[in-house]
Amino acid sequence: MRTLQSFNARTGEAIGEPLPASTPEQIDAAAEAAAQTFADWSSSDGMRRGALLRGLAAALDSDRVALVTLADQETGLGLVRLNGELDRTTFQLRRFADIAERGVPFAHVNDPAMSGPPPAGHPAMVRQQVPLGPVAMFSASNFPFAFSVLGGDTASALAAGCSVVVKAHTGHLLLSARVFARVQQVLKEQGLPAGLVGMVQGSGHEVGVRLVRHPAIAAGAFTGSTRGGAALQAEASARPRPIPFYGELGSINPVVVLPGALGTRGAELAATLAGSITLGCGQFCTSPGVIVLVDGGPHDTDTAANDAFVDHLRTALAAQQPHPMLTEAMRQAFDRGVAHQQQAGAVALLAEPSGGRAPRPFLAQVSAEGFVASAVLREEVFGPSSLIVRAGSMAQVRQVLDAVGGSLTVTLWGAEAESDDTRALVRAAMAVAGRVLFAGVPTGVAVTAAQQHGGPWPSSTQPMSTSVGDAALSRFLRPVALQDAPAWLNARAGRPC
Ligand code: NAP
Repeated sequence: MRTLQSFNARTGEAIGEPLPASTPEQIDAAAEAAAQTFADWSSSDGMRRGALLRGLAAALDSDRVALVTLADQETGLGLVRLNGELDRTTFQLRRFADIAERGVPFAHVNDPAMSGPPPAGHPAMVRQQVPLGPVAMFSASNFPFAFSVLGGDTASALAAGCSVVVKAHTGHLLLSARVFARVQQVLKEQGLPAGLVGMVQGSGHEVGVRLVRHPAIAAGAFTGSTRGGAALQAEASARPRPIPFYGELGSINPVVVLPGALGTRGAELAATLAGSITLGCGQFCTSPGVIVLVDGGPHDTDTAANDAFVDHLRTALAAQQPHPMLTEAMRQAFDRGVAHQQQAGAVALLAEPSGGRAPRPFLAQVSAEGFVASAVLREEVFGPSSLIVRAGSMAQVRQVLDAVGGSLTVTLWGAEAESDDTRALVRAAMAVAGRVLFAGVPTGVAVTAAQQHGGPWPSSTQPMSTSVGDAALSRFLRPVALQDAPAWLNARAGRPC
């Protein structure tokens, strides 16, 4: 029997006894239980779904102290951040409860029959949505609440009428088990079958792949690395019946500083950016991994302002001591990432060695030509690091964005005035990003109706969808057109049972 071990993220010491990894039989049983419960849950009404989601949020709230304490031990992310993340998670659950209660998953387009010859004449059509089926949901290491067992994917899938099988993340096994126990308690209290939300645990290569391959699974929802997401997407596509796979992946989130944007606020903006780069030890998918500066100007004034900004940023970063990374493997991956950047031609500006689990921030610099020429420099380095790219013109800035190809965010500082340059730059940013910011820093993703969290590859596998915000619901719904439906079906709003 394979076993798994939970570790204290700060000390590396084992917590508790080893836990059994899910066996192939248990994975199959979880997928089959999710399929059995799907028929009933998919025909539940909005009030029923809302009651479950509200019950799950209340269960998290009532166990807050124990959950946050456990999360802190397993991730080292700190009590303030984790309490905030739990607030966001219960907010998401209640928001999707509200969405279900308002009937959003049941919205339809009614297109009455039009007499006359085609193409203008047509039969009566109703376009509505049905839930996809059981969803395989992969938790992320760096959001132990908000992108985990009861995170946004589970909330939106349940609101859509889907059942869920969660693949717990190995980085927070005990927390996942405790949250899952709360889920099971709520399901029991509400008279719902245990299989509506299942959970499996173990290595992604074995447990995760078997889950995605299971014939009962109808969709995948994943938050994690580009490499892991690509591997699982390939599995989803290689099935005899391929399924949609919603992967939210890694991202380098360029911040473009236009000439004049710094003004007299260079030091202040550098401090804000340093805080964003080191937030959560840089373990955010929206961490600003690339900062593009535009040199030149009369008598090189822009170059001088940029040099001063880089100095401020270096000083601000040097003053930061990030907390330990989530796992030892991530710590090692961070060291490899910054080494690869230097081998690829980036010049280190701040690289203080540190042996422990908490890395020192890393800052490097490269020319725009060097950045565009090297695919290595466009890979995410997960941790507190950023790469300054020095461009010589606005055309070069656009080449840099074009080379990035896909990102969750692009931030543009100093695009307030309309000009040929700002128009072209905004278009270049919108071509590669899911979210374009004109102020502030990219870390922090609001859960709102207009949010878009997902951009072109390599930041996600389905750039037309979002994993954060109200529109996340539509990932788990499929349109069906009912043509000349009988009166009894129309009377039931197109829902046969
Ligand atoms: P990860 O290493 O990709 O792990 C995520 C899950 O995928 C784990 O369950 C892992 O299983 C599994 N997995 C990884 N590689 C696999 C493979 N080849 N085959 C099958 N399963 C595989 O990512 P992470 O360490 O949790 O998170 C860090 C990454 O997530 C960063 O790149 C970050 O930018 C990204 N992220 C993205 C978002 C977003 O919304 N776009 C949000 C948060 C984080 P194991 O249990 O075996 O590890």
